[in-house]
Amino acid sequence: MSPPATRYPLHRLSGQFQDPGQEAAYRRDIEPRVRLESSVALIVAALLFAMFAVSDYHFVGRSTELYLLYAMRLVVVFSCLALAFVLRRWGSYYRHAWLHALPLWILATAIILIVPLRPESLSTQVSGVVVATMGFYLLIPNLIPVVVAASLYMGLGFLGAAVMVAEIPAALAVRLLLVLVMTNAVGFFALLRLETLQRTQFSLLQEERVQNQQLTEEVAHRRSLEARLRSLAERDTLTGLDSRSHFMQRAGELLRRAQVDRTPFSLFMIDTDHFKTVNDTWGHSQGDRVLAAIAEACRRALRPQDVIGRFGGEEFIVALPDTRPEEARRVAERLRQRVAALSFDDDMPGHRLAVTIGIAGVVDEATDLDALIHQADQALYAGKHGGRNRVVVSQAMGSA
Ligand code: GH3
Ligand code: MG
Ligand code: MG
Repeated sequence: MSPPATRYPLHRLSGQFQDPGQEAAYRRDIEPRVRLESSVALIVAALLFAMFAVSDYHFVGRSTELYLLYAMRLVVVFSCLALAFVLRRWGSYYRHAWLHALPLWILATAIILIVPLRPESLSTQVSGVVVATMGFYLLIPNLIPVVVAASLYMGLGFLGAAVMVAEIPAALAVRLLLVLVMTNAVGFFALLRLETLQRTQFSLLQEERVQNQQLTEEVAHRRSLEARLRSLAERDTLTGLDSRSHFMQRAGELLRRAQVDRTPFSLFMIDTDHFKTVNDTWGHSQGDRVLAAIAEACRRALRPQDVIGRFGGEEFIVALPDTRPEEARRVAERLRQRVAALSFDDDMPGHRLAVTIGIAGVVDEATDLDALIHQADQALYAGKHGGRNRVVVSQAMGSA
């Protein structure tokens, strides 16, 4: 089964990404694993190579060849261990790929050199070359072109040495060649499959990460849109106070809680006096500025637990939880005075702002918000008739 396609095509023979940037990203990603695997593989290779010193003695006895073999094994073991250390610490799989290839060339050269030094053990060495070839392809992490070159160098070098130094017959040389070709072919296809699968998996994982990132950004964008929509629905854009619908929802909850807890609850209706004059005399924009200033003054005159909203036009509405009529009147009076103290002398010379406030309160457990608003409206109406710029408490409340 062929691996799933990704945006990054792979080279057919090397299994590497055709895109250099993607190949660099992949090698950087697998670097920690490659470093560890390379150093472990080299330590094992060094131990195996050292172990065969026993068979050297068995084959050549105490001779010059033995010392040469030991010297060579010492060099190889030392080089492998040093390289294992170097690769573990500094072996960047992208920038120093040649460093990862170095052990292959050293091991291949050593294996070739054993032939002239120990020609008697050629049959054992053939198995050694086969095992080393598979090890090159599958155990020491490396790039396919590097492994192919080092394996061919080892195979052909070994064959050349066997023909020239060990003087094997032509038929045996051909059989040996076939074995080496087969071993290389199996190793090559196994490594190609591995490289292809690993890179495909990397690309898929990377694409998944990008998609996850996009999804996270999309969710954040939607959340901020939702927040903006909510704020548009809940806030009055001119004054920044609660919109009428949002106020009704919040005040309704406060009223229900007050009725359950049997605590007092009051409500104001505030209407700006002679506001039409402002619009007619100084224009609508000035009217807007005045409305925003009145809203801000009202908000500042209230307590943290009070909730204020724009009821419509130049009218505002306030819910005062846990507040008796006397206290509500004090708060309303303070609010009225704050508005009266607002000064627009530069823009509207000689004009004083004023508000009339109608107050209603919970009469019994059955009183609902609409009934309270109606009461407060009536008190407000009375205030307008009584001359404006004043606070009036609902009669219904007083009689309770
Ligand atoms: P009263 O003392 O009886 O309340 O007189 P008033 O002039 O304040 O009342 P009226 O209802 O006659 O006029 C209210 C005005 O408020 C009319 C309307 O154009 C104005 N208004 C309502 N909403 C806005 C707004 O958002 N901006 C501005 N600039 N004016 C508004
Ligand atoms: Mg009005
Ligand atoms: Mg008015």
